[in-house]
Amino acid sequence: MCGVFGIHGHAEAANLTYLGLHALQHRGQESAGIVTSDGTRLYAHRQMGLVQEAIDEEVLARLPGAAAIGHVRYSTAGGSYLRNAQPFAVEFGGGSMAIAHNGNLTNTEELRERLERNGSIFQSTADTELVMHLVARSTAREVEDRLVEALAQVRGAYSLVLLTESKLVAVRDPHGVRPLCLGRMGDAWVVASEPTAFDLIDAQFERDLDPGELIVVDDRGLRSFRPFASVAPRPCLFEYVYFARPDSTLAGRGVYDARIALGRALAREQPAPADVVVPVPDSGTPAAIGYAEESGIPFSLALVRSHYVGRTFIEPQQAIRHFGVKLKLAPVRSALTGRRVVVVDDSIVRGTTSRKIVKMIRAAGAKEVHVRISSPPTRWPCYYGIDTPTRAELIASNHSVEEIGKYVTADSIAYLSLEGLQTATQLPTEACMACWTGEYPIAFTPPTAEKQLRLVGL
Ligand code: AMP
Repeated sequence: MCGVFGIHGHAEAANLTYLGLHALQHRGQESAGIVTSDGTRLYAHRQMGLVQEAIDEEVLARLPGAAAIGHVRYSTAGGSYLRNAQPFAVEFGGGSMAIAHNGNLTNTEELRERLERNGSIFQSTADTELVMHLVARSTAREVEDRLVEALAQVRGAYSLVLLTESKLVAVRDPHGVRPLCLGRMGDAWVVASEPTAFDLIDAQFERDLDPGELIVVDDRGLRSFRPFASVAPRPCLFEYVYFARPDSTLAGRGVYDARIALGRALAREQPAPADVVVPVPDSGTPAAIGYAEESGIPFSLALVRSHYVGRTFIEPQQAIRHFGVKLKLAPVRSALTGRRVVVVDDSIVRGTTSRKIVKMIRAAGAKEVHVRISSPPTRWPCYYGIDTPTRAELIASNHSVEEIGKYVTADSIAYLSLEGLQTATQLPTEACMACWTGEYPIAFTPPTAEKQLRLVGL
């Protein structure tokens, strides 16, 4: 759960990266960082907090050059410390490089052990540092060839950007699990996790990077390579359900439109005897609009969201998250009293949010509360870059839908079916749906999985 951004060939590289990161803030709120190049050396800044907190004008003034990469982070592997904030920047035999990564590698433990046995020293617990070690150890001349050699040894999901004194490199893993897009700004090239970052800076969206594609941008222009054996693409479907910003278009499919379609499909599959459709803002809003349109039940913004707190789940500490629900949402009594309410959200993870929301709506005077979820039950952890807890904590992996309904104290509860989800999202290729099916498209070694689980459970 991170956002990456890169730009090459623009005098205001640092400022534009700052704006790009701001547009990607929903992908990670723990830390932000920018590394720039002025053609002779790299300049780095990384700080905990939101983009606006972590980076100010003074910082930007200290980041010269016409090329930059940036990162917003939420940890899926590695703890929440400044030393794990990205982009990482190092000096090595081949010069300087910085890397920012979105995704999660699934064979880091074995690789790290091998490197440590051979004398490597790690400064962070993030798997991105491992890629840097592998790049540094390669004997290839060009940094992109070193990167390809490094990535040939790793497994997992990655959309990453790399900056040297003279080059911007961007690469998407062969399965294309996490998104990565290419844009243009006059003579400059930009890459970003989502095209919404281009909209803010008035860059033109060119296209998605293909799964397994690597691009190099330098003074000679842009070159595209496909250095890996091709495998079936498996873009993450959860990006459409929850993670990506609704104004983004990924693989040609508008995220907002996909969410409306999910809500419509949910209304067809799981009607509810209700007087009003209420979204859990913001994650459930487009699906609730679709549900209301399809069912003909009036839509009501009866839960008011405070915009001055981050997404509840994003806080790594369970204690803060519980508190966050109350901090974040407040019921509109007049819109709820005496009504039969169908409340729509995109997903249930541990069930704590839904339970509090149902209780909140009932306490505000609702006669009945029906919960509808615009994706199937989340039963399996993600090992590819979305922060999900262990199976033990995922309520749907050890409870029936009926039991979940009882836990969240709903009058009825229902989820969208897997078929409904696939039909409504209309992706051109098969997607990764491991969090719903348990069918993982990229192998991971069990020790890695255990480690990941321990770390995300911090
Ligand atoms: P929970 O209280 O654990 O059931 O969390 C459910 C809420 O978290 C829903 O409102 C979802 O929109 C949101 N959510 C689902 N998956 C994630 C995730 N990986 N990161 C952050 N929030 C999530």
